[in-house]
Amino acid sequence: MEIRKIGVVGAGTMGSGITQACAVAGLDVVMMDISEAQVQRGLATITGSMDRLIKREKMSEAEKAATLGRIQTATALQSLAGCDLVIEAASENIDLKLKVFADLDAILGPDAIIASNTSSISITLLAAGTKRPEQVIGMHFFNPVPMMALVEVICGLQTSAGTFTSVENLAKAIGKTPVKVKNSPGFVVNRMLCPMINEAIFTFAEGLATAEQIDEAMKLGCNHPIGPLALCDLIGLDVELAVMQVLYEGTKDPKYRPAPLLVEMVEAGYLGRKTGKGFYTYSK
Ligand code: NAD
Repeated sequence: MEIRKIGVVGAGTMGSGITQACAVAGLDVVMMDISEAQVQRGLATITGSMDRLIKREKMSEAEKAATLGRIQTATALQSLAGCDLVIEAASENIDLKLKVFADLDAILGPDAIIASNTSSISITLLAAGTKRPEQVIGMHFFNPVPMMALVEVICGLQTSAGTFTSVENLAKAIGKTPVKVKNSPGFVVNRMLCPMINEAIFTFAEGLATAEQIDEAMKLGCNHPIGPLALCDLIGLDVELAVMQVLYEGTKDPKYRPAPLLVEMVEAGYLGRKTGKGFYTYSK
């Protein structure tokens, strides 16, 4: 199926980025959130991002205007009725997502595909809550969406080959590189990235080296653009802990146990850049 009109549920960090990426590529997008204030915040994020691209001469004013012209906004899910594909990027809460999926299932046309950008919830479970489980799939984008090339395309147990092909083609059409992944805790990237960061925290807690030395070692020794502890501060320690808990709960494998120091720092409210303190201190 060719996907022409896209709906995006949630206008936050990811939803606004997904909307921008699709609209820049020439697709019509309806971006929906629960309030006009949230929708406007999402639009401001998109405008700000395009203004930065214009400054760096990577986009023209005309392209920006044309992109904004392809974006409609809404505060009611019903406004997504005519979409071929809806990408759900609402807050990471299982009950909320199950409700959104059930509502979309009732509103959308019979051929429409429902995708989720969830980082940790089972696509198989989300699919099972609908009457179209073979047309449910994961599209796991990376932050910031306009810059990051990868989309993990997650197939649940029920996802059909046709659904996968439609979504794979769409990902390519918006300039991304899709990688097909089976539904499993953490998918591929977070399954490897978050345990590496967790191990860096163990290394730090054991006093093997300072935070600066650990990050320097991984940058120079592995050619990583940013060290694992600085990256953890950027992602948010709470988000890192949540992913480790998903991996641990989902597999019961002790290799995924969260580092005790990570748990304690989250308890203290040291969440990284967003709170000004994590493995490093940040001035406002
Ligand atoms: P966010 O908090 O920035 O945005 C979530 C938005 O969802 C908010 O604007 C909120 O108002 C809206 N929302 C809540 N309930 C809604 C509803 N019923 N209908 C419509 N909108 C609703 O969160 P985010 O970082 O953009 O994350 C969104 C999703 O993307 C989550 O599932 C998260 O796991 C996933 N994700 C996040 C990242 C990341 O780096 N932030 C990366 C990959 C995937």
